[in-house]
Formats: sequence, C-alpha cells, structure tokens
Amino acid sequence: MATTYDKLNYMSKTKNDKSKKFHWYAATSSEGILELSLYFPNKNITKEEKEEALALALVQSKSFMLSKGYLLPNAHFMSSSDIAEKHGHTRQYWEKLLKEGKIPYKETSAGRITTDLWVQGYLNNKEKVDEYIRERNKVISTIQKENRKRGQVKCPHCGEHKFDYNINAHNINGLCRADCGFRIHTIN
Ligand SMILES: [Zn+2]
Repeated sequence: MATTYDKLNYMSKTKNDKSKKFHWYAATSSEGILELSLYFPNKNITKEEKEEALALALVQSKSFMLSKGYLLPNAHFMSSSDIAEKHGHTRQYWEKLLKEGKIPYKETSAGRITTDLWVQGYLNNKEKVDEYIRERNKVISTIQKENRKRGQVKCPHCGEHKFDYNINAHNINGLCRADCGFRIHTIN
C-alpha cells in the first residue's frame, strides 16, 4: 500500500572520545520525518562545540535515513505552488489531493509541505492510491459507527469479515486477517 507508514526507527549515538561533551538521539519515520534531540551534560560547552554537535548529528542522521530508503538523494521539499509549477494543474488541485491524504504531507506554520518523492508516488499509482483512500475512508466510517475501541469489521478490500482494528489515543490501526494485504494506519 502506497500510503501506510507505520515504521519507526530509533538510533542513538554517543561521542565517547575526550570528555563526552554531548550525546544525541534521533527518531526517523518512513515518512522521511526526523526528530532530533541533543544533550549537553557539560554546561561549559561553547557555541562552536554545540554547532559541531548539531552538524555531526545531522550528517549521521541523513546517512542513516538514506541507507534506510527514507530519503532519496535528490528529494526536495515542495509546497502546493511548487508542485503546480513543476507538474501543472493549479495549486488548489494539489492542495485538495494533500487534504484527502492521497499525497502525504507535513503541516508547518507556512502551510503543507511534501516531497517530490510522494508526488511521484501518487502520479505513478493514481488509480491504486485513489482506490486505497476510498477503501480506507469506508472502513474508518464503519469503525466509527461501531463505537468500540477495538473489534472486527468487514474488510472493504476483500469483503471478508476479518478486518481487525484498534483505536488508540491519536490513531486508528487495522489489518485484514484474511491476508488480502489491506491495512490502515492513521496519524493525527
Ligand atoms: Zn481483506
């Protein structure tokens, strides 16, 4: 499924040499999102040393994400106007696709941003993504009518009554036990 992202990888690196001036922690998701935290146990650290720590953490995180396939070497961040400029159609056209979840995006203070990787993913699999989103919306509305935290409903893909779902605080996960491959993972 082109639009499910449930994988999360963690790594931590410690700089053991010298006086162990910093360590950092990074979490990356298959959406290509990086969360990075730096820790400085020694309060006497200089601004230059902080910058050096940040640069090192970014370089290592980037190579980790490239090695996991979470980033393409030539991936660019794009706004809906950037996509319109590159692929035609209006900004509103792309904005609608982002809103419908057909192209994954990240909400920022400046608006929604995505990467050309996801735009390409949509353009190359339009019918499949459209069908998947239709089925995903259908099963989510069925789940919401059930009014239960977890259970089993009819799978919108194969029609078997074997779709297991689970509602957590911020998302809904589900997987078809009939092995048709249909699954959902919503992110709030
Ligand atoms: Zn199924």
